[in-house]
Amino acid sequence: MAEQPAVVPPVVAARDVSKVWDAGTPAARPALRDVNFRVDNLPERGEFITIVGPSGCGKSTLLCLLAGFETHLPLTTGELLVNGQPVSGPGLDRGMIFQKYSSFPHLTVWQNIAFGLNLHRARLKLSSRDVRELAYQWAAKVHLTGSELLYPSELSGGMQQRVAIARTLALKPRIILMDEPFSALDEPTRLAMQDLLVELWREVEATVFMVTHSLEEAIYLGDRLWIFSAAPGTIARQLNDIPLPLEPAAVQQSRPEFEAVAREVGELFRTLTRAPGRADG
Ligand code: ADP
Repeated sequence: MAEQPAVVPPVVAARDVSKVWDAGTPAARPALRDVNFRVDNLPERGEFITIVGPSGCGKSTLLCLLAGFETHLPLTTGELLVNGQPVSGPGLDRGMIFQKYSSFPHLTVWQNIAFGLNLHRARLKLSSRDVRELAYQWAAKVHLTGSELLYPSELSGGMQQRVAIARTLALKPRIILMDEPFSALDEPTRLAMQDLLVELWREVEATVFMVTHSLEEAIYLGDRLWIFSAAPGTIARQLNDIPLPLEPAAVQQSRPEFEAVAREVGELFRTLTRAPGRADG
């Protein structure tokens, strides 16, 4: 009898996920409702999913649930699966990058990048020398060569965020969760970070979920773009394969074709995220 090919579970799947804070109490506050999606394993590529939606519609809550943070688990209803297993806590397969630069002030750049590697050194079968080498390699990948011995207070916001990115990616997570990572940066730095992220993402071939409040960033980076509804949030629309040539962010985002797409997506965003019950106009 012919052998059945092994069934590869999706990298992430959500089935009817809802989250109500303080569920069952008079203070119950619904944050997410009926979130359904499936992200398949795309070997040697991964998918980049960008998420936009009005403030408070549960975007960060979804990322934190995916990360398995105990502050956010359990789900109120539904199932959230990573590689076919329900999320029950954090794991080395997932890495999170926050808006706030999350470096340790008392550690240098390379020590910050090495932090997670050191924490999991035994499991990753790395010597101290391997960790140091990897940290220096990752410093180079995020263009921080020469700054390895500086402390976070000596770095610009963009440099600090590059440290956080290197620290997370050095652990090679298959799933990268990013919560408005560039929103505190000025525009030129933010565009440069988008290019850097595309470059690194091609190398690490992971699945990325990125929350952003910039529609332009979501359009530029996303293979899929989710527009969340007003709270309690759900995926109101998924846009796939927005047809734009791959170019550096600053070039692409200054083209009339890009501006036309951004206007169209902006209109859709306003329609889909209008709070229920609000009159038109
Ligand atoms: P977004 O990221 O879309 O701005 P959030 O996920 O941060 O939205 O918040 C969604 C809702 O969940 C909000 O009403 C917020 O107050 C609530 N919320 C978020 N985190 C917590 C928490 N740790 N405890 C209680 N309520 C929370």
